[in-house]
Parts: sequence; C-alpha cells; structure tokens
Amino acid sequence: MTISIHGLAVSRGIAIGRAVVVASSRMDVGHYFVPSDQIENEIQRLRHARNAVVEEILKVQQGLQDLPNDAHPELSALLDVHLMLLQDEQLTSGVKHWIVDRHYNAEWALTTQLEVIARQFDEMEDPYLRERKADLEQVVERMLRFMRGVASPVAAGADGRASADSEVPLVLIAHDLSPADMLQFKQSVFAGFVTDVGGKTSHTAIVARSMDIPAVVGARSCSHLIQQDDWVIIDGDAGVVLVDPSPILLAEYGFKQRQGEVERDRLSRLKNTPAVTLDGQKIELLANIEQPEDAVGALKAGAVGVGLFRSEFLFMGRSGKLPDEEEQYQAYRRAVEGMQGLPVTIRTVDVGADKPLDRGASRPADDYLNPALGLRAIRWSLAEPSMFLVQLRAILRAAAHGPVNLLIPMLAHASEIRQTLALINRAREQLDNGGQSYGHVKLGAMIEVPAAALTIPLFLRHFDFLSVGTNDLIQYTLAIDRADEAVSHLYDPVHPAVLQLLAGTIAQCREHGKGVSVCGEMAGDVTLTRLLLGLGLRSFSMHPSQILAVKQQILRCDTTRLQTWAQSVLAAEDPAALMTD
Ligand code: PEP
Ligand code: MG
Repeated sequence: MTISIHGLAVSRGIAIGRAVVVASSRMDVGHYFVPSDQIENEIQRLRHARNAVVEEILKVQQGLQDLPNDAHPELSALLDVHLMLLQDEQLTSGVKHWIVDRHYNAEWALTTQLEVIARQFDEMEDPYLRERKADLEQVVERMLRFMRGVASPVAAGADGRASADSEVPLVLIAHDLSPADMLQFKQSVFAGFVTDVGGKTSHTAIVARSMDIPAVVGARSCSHLIQQDDWVIIDGDAGVVLVDPSPILLAEYGFKQRQGEVERDRLSRLKNTPAVTLDGQKIELLANIEQPEDAVGALKAGAVGVGLFRSEFLFMGRSGKLPDEEEQYQAYRRAVEGMQGLPVTIRTVDVGADKPLDRGASRPADDYLNPALGLRAIRWSLAEPSMFLVQLRAILRAAAHGPVNLLIPMLAHASEIRQTLALINRAREQLDNGGQSYGHVKLGAMIEVPAAALTIPLFLRHFDFLSVGTNDLIQYTLAIDRADEAVSHLYDPVHPAVLQLLAGTIAQCREHGKGVSVCGEMAGDVTLTRLLLGLGLRSFSMHPSQILAVKQQILRCDTTRLQTWAQSVLAAEDPAALMTD
C-alpha cells in the first residue's frame, strides 16, 4: 500500500528509486558502486576487517584472563557478545548480499545491513535484547575504523554516479544530514534525499539546491516509516514522499520527471542570452558556490561572477583541523581561476548555528542555548583572530589571480566593523612584511541582522558594497530558527517587516551609488523576482541551477511598471495577497 509522507519542498524535481536508509552518523563512509571484477576484493576487505576485530577482542579477553579471577566478569561477557555478533549469520550474509547483488562498497554494505538489523532490535520486546543494538553498533564501528586504514582500490577513482552497475537509482533516507554530510553526499550515488528534520533554508537544504537534486526535509518520521530498499518517489516540488507507489503513480511521476527534463532543456537555450528587462535594465546574475569546483557549474549556467562563495565548507568535517593558509589560498585561487576573469565574492568563514565544524560538534552550552544567536560567523572570526588572519591572508593572496570581493558575514556593531577592518589591514601588513604578493579586493558586508539593516549609513561609510543575506535576515527579524521545521510555516520572506528592511537597504545603497545584491534564497525564488526588481534590485546571487529560470522571468519584466506595484506590496498588510497581481 502506498504511504504518502509530507515534508518541506526544498529542491525541485522528481526522483524515483530504491531507499537507502542511513543513520546520520554513518554518512561519513564512502558510498560508491564496485565493478563486478572487484567484488571478491571487497568481500576480502570485509573479511580482513572482521578477523582483525575478532583478534583485537581475543587479545583483550586474554588480558582479562591474566588478571585475578573474575576481575571483570561483565566486560568478559560483553566481549563474548561482541564476538558472537561478529560471527552472526544475518550480519555476514546480509552484508554479502549488498556487495554481490547491489555492488555496494564494503563500508556502505556494512552500514546498510547495520540499519536493517538495528531496526529489528528496536522492535524487540525484551529490553536486554533491545540494548544489544548498541553492541552491534560498536562492533560495526570497529570494523569501519579498521577499513578506514585500508582503503578500497576502487574508492580512489570512484565516481558513483557514473560507475553504477546497477540501473536502479537510489535515494537516501536519513534522520538528519549535516552540511558536512552534504559534502560527502555530493560525491555519492544518490539521486535525491529525504530527512526527518530540517527547515527550508537550513544549510542542508541549501546544499541540496546547489546540487540540483530533488529533496524533501522535515518529513518527520520518514526514516522510521521507510524500510531499506523500499521503492520511493520524492516529489521535490510538492514536498511529498510516496513510499511503495502503485504502478499508476510510478507512471504518473515518471511522466512528470520527463516533463521536468524537457523544461530544463528549454531553459538551457537562455544560457547566452543577456539578462536584460523589457525596458532595457541590465541585471547581474551571480552564482552561490560552496566549493572551488562549483565554479564550473556557475559558468555553465551563464553566471557573470560568484556572488557568494561560502568558504566555511572548506573548514567542515575535518575533525577540528582547520585548513592552513596555503591550502585555503590554493582553494580560493582555484575558484578565481575557474571563473576565468569574472569576479569572485569570497565570504569569510561562517560556521556555527546549523553549520558546526564537525558533525554533532557543539560547545556544551549550545545544547541549551540557541546557537543561531551564539558565536557564529564574524563573531567567531573575531574571537579567533589568528584563524581569521590566516583566512584573510589567503584571500588577499588569491586576489592576485583575478578580481576578488571580500565579504564579511553577520556584522551588527560598529565595533565589529572596526575590528574587522583593522584585521584586514594587519593581514596586508603581514603579507608586505613577508614579501608576498597579493591583490586588491573590494570590501563588502552582509546585511543579515535587523540591527545592520537599520543602520545602513554606517555600513556605507566603511564598505564598497552590501549583500543582503535574506535567509538570516528573515530568521532574525521574525525570530524563526531557519533550521527548525516546527516553525517553518512562520518563515515568511514577504512579511512586511522583512520587506521594509530589504527595500530600505536597496534604496539607500542606490542613493549612494553603492552596489547591493541579494544572496539569500530569495534571490533564486522565481516567485519573488518581480518584487525584487520592483524594489530596485539589479544584482541577484543564487545557486547556478536557478539562474536560467530567474533569467526567464527577468526577460519578461518591465521594471518601470513593477515599481509602483512593488510599493503597494510594501505598504500592504498582507503582501502575499498581492504577489499574484
Ligand atoms: C543568508 O543568510 O541569506 C546567506 C546567504 O548566508 P547563509 O545562508 O550561508 O547563512
Ligand atoms: Mg547568512
């Protein structure tokens, strides 16, 4: 019977495939397909890992036996359980099935089978047996640790998407995925994903949009309702997940999927068309990127520059070891050179809130404080000036290879502005003293906090351009945690308060002849393009996958007409009601 689960639509399109249910903590293992001639090899890796862990446990047991009698009876019994689990037929034959029949790599097969057995444990009545799940997880974790040291020969060149022996697309189902998980996801084989938690502008959703794959977040209990290998349809446009769909539904959604592809092909013809409105206004369409390699996609979509390089993705999932100056310089340089002379706006590191450096890592206090109001973005950089200086030097050096704008996130106080500018000067001095070459950068500030939007003249005195981060501006204006699906219905880009802050920022920048752009998700939302144009915006930064659809809207607009309408929207009690006029 088909079950339908409702969540939040975060990344458009339809995906149809078999479910791979993962615990979020297991996303850090590789997911790729193994060619037929490597299958035996993969089974061997697994066998070695299991034997190594058995040996480890036997050694510990031996050590226990050398102690006075019955010194650690519980530990000894526990080790027996671990040994038993390692030999368990359901684990070994199940893992083999995923490798032989589905061509999963060993780590992926192991974690998939772990999920299958863990669910059976969850359903057990007997609390003692239920608790054995934790033992199983420990045993698997030990095997994974061993395998981490012995990489698969296939892994190095694995491009899961291309090398799939299996014809059936796979979709990922998880309780949660962190932004760092998403980086891993980018290199994986999945055609779409669904998570139990997450808001529309959470960073997980943002990365999904950047990958242009169908995704639904906030689907509450999906990771419990969906079983390993179930057939699933993800409708990323409607925010709906259909489990075990009937043949009629499969046919209907297959048709929608093909229609989507036709529409994309049609839009791709606009790539080289200049983004100019009917009344001749030139509009700048820029790309948001997370990694230097994304520059390729930006150019392909016809972006005229990068309006937001979220540099924090270079810092994530590294077990606390931050990238040094050389590594950062090389990464920024790759992005700059990748854009072939077009400007690249590098935003300094914005970790914290829903972007922890490492999965699950939070300061103890964050468990009971809201991290969105805590030490994130520029606040963190100013609290760690030596880390910040490393990044500033790397960006300035990369600017020697092409036009670079330096963008600072989440400023709110004049003192923060002063400290930031002083550190930028210090970074220049340090490079001068070291005889290192660097380039000129334009300085920009993000307007993301209402306090900043209400003090624009202060920002205009110190910066060359402003960029409105509407994701955070909405979050902080409406007091809605953007990552929390429980309040996502209150997350309203056209709330009169948000529109006033946005309109005021755009108007003041234009009055002073300073550049202003919007780089939050609003910029890539085609239902808001007319309004933003009417409010005077001429520069939009968004995921490359949204550029052509926004351009299509722009080509149909006359800004002289939109101005009056936008003013009426701005003055309305319920702006959303006027949006379809
Ligand atoms: C924003 O807040 O709108 C923005 C672009 O920054 P981020 O989404 O990375 O917080
Ligand atoms: Mg932001």
